[in-house]
Amino acid sequence: MNPNGKFSALVKKAATDCGFDLSGIASVGEFEELAYFPQWIAAGRAGEMKYLESRNDAGELRRASLRSVFPWAQSVVVCAINYNTAHPHSTQVNDPNRGWISRYAWSREDYHDSVLRRVRELEAKLKELVGNETSIQTRSYVDTGPVIERVYAKYAGVGWLGKNTCLINQKVGSWLFLGVIVTSLELTPDLPAADRCGTCTRCIDACPTQALGSPYELDSNKCISYLTIEKRGTIPEELRAGMGHQVFGCDICQDVCPWNRKAPSTDKPEFEPREGLVNPVLGWLAEISEEEFREKFRSSPVKRAKHSGIRRNALIAIGNSGNRSHIPIVERASEDPDPLISEVAIWAKRRLQEQR
Ligand code: SF4
Ligand code: SF4
Repeated sequence: MNPNGKFSALVKKAATDCGFDLSGIASVGEFEELAYFPQWIAAGRAGEMKYLESRNDAGELRRASLRSVFPWAQSVVVCAINYNTAHPHSTQVNDPNRGWISRYAWSREDYHDSVLRRVRELEAKLKELVGNETSIQTRSYVDTGPVIERVYAKYAGVGWLGKNTCLINQKVGSWLFLGVIVTSLELTPDLPAADRCGTCTRCIDACPTQALGSPYELDSNKCISYLTIEKRGTIPEELRAGMGHQVFGCDICQDVCPWNRKAPSTDKPEFEPREGLVNPVLGWLAEISEEEFREKFRSSPVKRAKHSGIRRNALIAIGNSGNRSHIPIVERASEDPDPLISEVAIWAKRRLQEQR
């Protein structure tokens, strides 16, 4: 069906019309990154993220092969939106009263909603372009499907997979939200993007918890992003000091990447930050009530960390702050009925007292 470049160009033009900054097309293939995925899972690198291990009836990992889930799948349309806003990097601020929420989670509207809305619009345009006489199958996803979007983005020419494992575009950088349309249409694919990391190792050198033990491979168990968002319960003590001021996610390996030095700002107002989320006050987050948490982070990715998770993270950041004026906060938290909060608060007080 329309296996020519002209049709693929029309699809990409439609993606631009829907507000995407970048787009490309990949064939559904058995790419090396997908072939490696079962090994990565088997090595325990996904931590407690069991959803990554979902399998089909034959017991195969769904994310390792799109055709094992959708035998009709031929192509993946990959779209990307720049969410960078004109605010400092986490590595440029160092206020002991304040923590850091990952840049992607500042937005007024949950990116899942705003990106999926555009992907669905593109899906409708794709069907219009094909015409009524041909029926095609499609599935659209933003993070929630059995698709490792970054891998398809690489093969769609949208960017390369850096040594920090993020997708990087030469012109836009790596502050990108991805959306995909899996389709039964056989579209002319783009060429994969060339790897432009070269001899650089800035991300590996800057990672405070050595989660990038080897280039291009992330050990989630050590990654602050995983620890602050996905990990439930306690956080191993040996990793807490490395967490620094991070309270939700971690941007360090993107902040230090030279390809983000001149990253343009987004033109989408919905990605502008909610009030108080850029460099948030630690004391506020450590003592935030369940009601305020629910209200403040309604329709925000931050709610994924849960109320006790954000308080836990803020108390660890307080412990790392060296700011003893936080001691009354950790003393109050050490009496908290939630054993997770009291345990972390006792650790934080000890650490504050140890730091000079
Ligand atoms: S997100 Fe942070 S902890 Fe995770 S690999 Fe990057 S720098 Fe390391
Ligand atoms: S910091 Fe350097 S090595 Fe890491 S992703 Fe960026 S360019 Fe690649």
